[in-house]
Amino acid sequence: MKHVKNHMKLYLPSLSVNEGVARSVIASFVAQLNPTLEELSDIKCAVSEAVTNSIVHGYKFNQGMIYIGVKYYSNRTVIIEIKDKGCGIENVAQAMTPLFTTDTSGERSGMGFAVMQTFMDKLIVRSKSGEGVKILMSKQLK
Ligand code: ATP
Ligand code: MG
Repeated sequence: MKHVKNHMKLYLPSLSVNEGVARSVIASFVAQLNPTLEELSDIKCAVSEAVTNSIVHGYKFNQGMIYIGVKYYSNRTVIIEIKDKGCGIENVAQAMTPLFTTDTSGERSGMGFAVMQTFMDKLIVRSKSGEGVKILMSKQLK
């Protein structure tokens, strides 16, 4: 039977600088599992994309909190939860389509969810319009 071996919660305000903070704190936490450099870099990229989305889309650069949970199981599965209470996503399936973006500045490419999907084993996105977004992603380390 697998069981949770270690876990951590991290609450950060939606400041751009906290994208890097979330990335490195989660990487330090996961480092205790001796991941390969590739596994670590995959997790860092996925976390960056999710946190950036909360800052940029969820809260539209206004103030809000980002709730992050990380845990790993005895079978070396890492589960990361990233949640915001921002504007939410009306159509999750559409938002997850590669190249789909609501950004009009031309800065975004609509590839964030595709990156999370590629770099992690599983990705679940839950959202109600007006109630924020919850992302659950998992990766089984070697
Ligand atoms: P990129 O990630 O390539 O910079 P992007 O952020 O637009 O571009 P995705 O990360 O794939 O692309 O997200 C797709 C769309 O889903 C976004 O344009 C946005 O409309 C919506 N979205 C994603 N995350 C959130 C969130 N936390 N809150 C509200 N809307 C979101
Ligand atoms: Mg994005």
